Parts: sequence; structure tokens; C-alpha cells
Amino acid sequence: MLAHHINGARVTSTGAECASVYNPAKGEILYPVPFANQSEIEKAIEAAEKAHQQWSLSSLAERARLMFAFKQLLEKNIPALAECITLEHGKTRADATASIQRGIDVVEFACGAPHLLKSSYSERVGRDVDCYGLRQSLGICVGITPFNFPAMIPLWMYPLALICGNTFIHKPSEKDPSTALLLADLLYEAGAPDGILNVLHGGKEVVDALISHPKVKAVSFVGSTKVAEHIYQTASRHHKRVQAFGGAKNHCLVMDDADVDDAANAILGAAYGSTGQRCMAISVVLCVGNKTADALVERLIPAMKALVIGSGENDRTVLAPLTSSDGLNRVQEYLEIGIKEGANLIVDGRQASIPEKGFFIGASLFDHVKPAMRIYQEEIFGPVLCVMRAPDYETALSWINAHPYGNGAAIFTQSGEIAHDYASRVQIGMVGINVPIPVPVGYHSFGGWKNSVFGDLGLHGPDGIQFYTRLKTITARWPKTKQNHGFTLPTH
Ligand code: NAD
Repeated sequence: MLAHHINGARVTSTGAECASVYNPAKGEILYPVPFANQSEIEKAIEAAEKAHQQWSLSSLAERARLMFAFKQLLEKNIPALAECITLEHGKTRADATASIQRGIDVVEFACGAPHLLKSSYSERVGRDVDCYGLRQSLGICVGITPFNFPAMIPLWMYPLALICGNTFIHKPSEKDPSTALLLADLLYEAGAPDGILNVLHGGKEVVDALISHPKVKAVSFVGSTKVAEHIYQTASRHHKRVQAFGGAKNHCLVMDDADVDDAANAILGAAYGSTGQRCMAISVVLCVGNKTADALVERLIPAMKALVIGSGENDRTVLAPLTSSDGLNRVQEYLEIGIKEGANLIVDGRQASIPEKGFFIGASLFDHVKPAMRIYQEEIFGPVLCVMRAPDYETALSWINAHPYGNGAAIFTQSGEIAHDYASRVQIGMVGINVPIPVPVGYHSFGGWKNSVFGDLGLHGPDGIQFYTRLKTITARWPKTKQNHGFTLPTH
């Protein structure tokens, strides 16, 4: 049985409800994960509230030093963290390692964040009057994270919440919860004061208790769109600051002037890497012209068939299992839906040679997908790529802009004019130009548009600092001589 992490230590759960954590490569249960009960939730809140009293008064240097020490320990422990991710999530060790590094990038950014906490100062806004702003902590912040990045996404949240002087409660996915505990162990080994980070396991009930708790001030959520909407509505109704990032359907537009070899190579990794379980995975390729589509498909088919399928622990594996049997069933259902809708399933992942046990499926490719089809409109979240054929650039752009999701979109072209127009007019939050997965670096901010996000301000980068602080504006007067305070609104 896994523990929670409350007030600086692992705590055995007394909760009655639990779920099972699986090894996806074997399809076998590893151990149960307990769901926090009301008393455990209150203990975490109490610890975070008490810790905030001192932590919010700590010096910026003290906070930055903690982040430096945390970063060093994370780097030292990459192999252990990657092993844990591979065991519970299923992804390959190389992919797990890369995702931890993308998380560490934000810890690195947090080390220098005191620079961003400097505020504005206007001298002499009136006679003897100065005006300045302070960015202060909010209090207890809550982060609810999805199964697909058990280290990276939490590391996009709490290093910034903490450097801003807040305390944090992390509710990881119940599908792969152990990495969250390892991360918390490392933060405390780095010297964190007790209670600044707490980890509670659970499902909907624990989430709902946290996001409506009167002492919680801000909620960061990453997960499916359906749950993101619920989080946004519930937490806002309880007067929290909320950012809720949802699902995606990411397009890659391949123009008729693109280097098709380069595009096919990039699309293969971006569509099937991490078995398609990335919120920035490419799930739709829009080709301008049949010639472009034929050339692309011709290159993708043999490359897909050569992908090595197996356990993430095997260094030769490229296509690891899906994380859950639910995920596997969903992918299989969508393959049937696509066939019924009339799309052409030119590579069927169900035919691939796969290990006997575990949540495996091969890579699939649909061609001649049309805008009204469900396999295009809905998120599949697995190794399924849809190819669409547009007569021209304007039609392709209009399809992308009409799509309900707006996380990421890429374009492959050799024309600077088209690339510039695309970046300007596409209704999408993160755009790649000859870059298939345009996840911004840690010192820029991450976030989609449309149904891929509810609330404002992105994750990490400057938006992260804004999200985890509130502005106080001071107007100060130190007069040399006494003045009359009048009844009229003061002007300067
Ligand atoms: P999910 O929405 O099922 O779960 C996310 C978190 O919410 C988990 O911690 C889970 O325990 C909790 N949860 C689940 N149902 C809930 C409910 N009814 N009420 C309250 N809490 C609930 O998502 P997932 O399956 O873990 O992750 C995959 C999804 O996340 C995909 O849709 C993917 O696109 C999305 N995602 C989005 C981003 C992004 O940045 N936009 C990043 C990663 C993943």
C-alpha cells in the first residue's frame, strides 16, 4: 500500500477506499493506492497552512537555494525516477528520462525566478508620493495532475508556486502515483521546511474536497477536457484562482513544398512517441494536395511497421504499452468507429505482433479522414494518426480553426510567407514551424486555446509567476510639510 506525504513525511493511509496501480507491460496489479479520507485531507491542509506562515516570510535567496538543491537531487535521481515512471506508466526509459528533464527545466527557471518577483516602482507620482507594486503569495495552492507525465507536469507547477512563497498540495493520478512521492522525498531531502509540499492520493471525491476547501486559494489542473471543465466551474464557484488545461487534437499541416522525408520522420515520432499519450502528440496530418498525402503515407507505412513494440524497460522498444486497459479499449473502439465512418484504415495496429500480456497495440493510420468524423473531432489519446487531404492552404487552415481543441499545431513548409501567415492566423495556443511538438521551453509559458484550456494564464514561464502571486499596489507619501486632505478625489 502506498503512503500519502503529509507535513514532510510519508504517512500510512487510514482511508478505506483505494484503486489498483498496474504494470502496463504485464497487465498485472502492482499494489493498491489509498484514497485520502476527510481527516487526511484536513491534516494536509493544516500542514500547508502552518507552513505558509513561515515560508511566505522566507527570503527569496532561501527559496532559490532550496530550488538549486532540489534540482541537483532530481538530476542525481533521474534513473530511479525514470524506472518508477516506466514501471507504472509503461513509457520507455528514454522517454521517461526526457520528460523528467523537461520538468527539471522549470525547476531551473524557478531558481532564477526572484528576478521576476521584482516589481514596479514609480517615484513622484505626485508631490512626495511614490507608487509601487508587490507580488505576494496566495497561500495554499492545489495541483491535480494526469497520468501521462507523472514527473514533468507536477514539476511545471509546484516549483513556481513554492518560489513565490506559497505552499502546495499535489493530487497525482491514481494510475501512476509513486513518482509524486519520490519527488516529495527529494524536495525534503533538499531541505524544504515541513509541510510546504504535501501529496494526497485519490479520485473525484478527494479532488472535489480540495478544490472547494475554504482554505485553498488556487487550483492548477491538467487532464481531460471533461474534467477540466468541471474543475474550472467548481473551483471558480468556490472563489479560487483556477487554470485548467484539457485535452487536445493537434494538427500538422504539410504543405506541397515541404521536405516530405523530414516531415514524415518528424510526424512518426510526434504521433506514436509515448504511444500517442501526449497532450501535444500529433494526431492529425493535413496534407495540401493528394500528391503530398500520397508521398507522406508511402513513407509512413514501412516506418510504422518497423516500430519495435515491447516493454518500456527494454532499450530497443519504441512503442511501449498504453497505461491502462481503459485506454486500450478506447483506442480499439475508435478504430471500429473510424472504419464505420468510412475512413480508410491503411495500417491497423490490432494486426501488429504484440507481447501476449499487457496493454499493447500497434500503431494505426487512417487515410481519407473527413472533418465531420468522430475520429477527427474527438481525442483518441493513443497511437492512431488521421491523414486528411485538403485542396489548398485556406481550406486546411479553416478546418484547424473550426476544430474545438486548440492545444498545438505544426506546419511543415519551405515558404517563410506561408509559415508567417499560419503563425499569425491559426487559432491555436502553441505553434511549431517545421517543429512537430512545439512545447515551449521552461522560461516561456505553456497553454492551449479553445477547449484545451479553461481559465487564463499558462503553465510555467512568466505566466506561472503571475498565476501563483497576487498584486498589491502601494501608494506612499512621506511629506516634508503638512498638507490639507480634501474631499475631492486627489489628482496629481
Ligand atoms: P483525467 O482527466 O482522467 O484525470 C486527470 C486528473 O483528474 C487525475 O488526477 C484524476 O484523478 C482526476 N480526475 C479524474 N476524473 C475526475 C473527476 N470526475 N473529478 C475530479 N477529478 C477527476 O485525465 P488523464 O486520463 O489522467 O490524462 C489524460 C488527459 O489529459 C488527456 O485528455 C490529455 O490530453 C490531457 N492532458 C492535457 C495536457 C495539457 O497541457 N493540455 C497535458 C497532459 C495531459
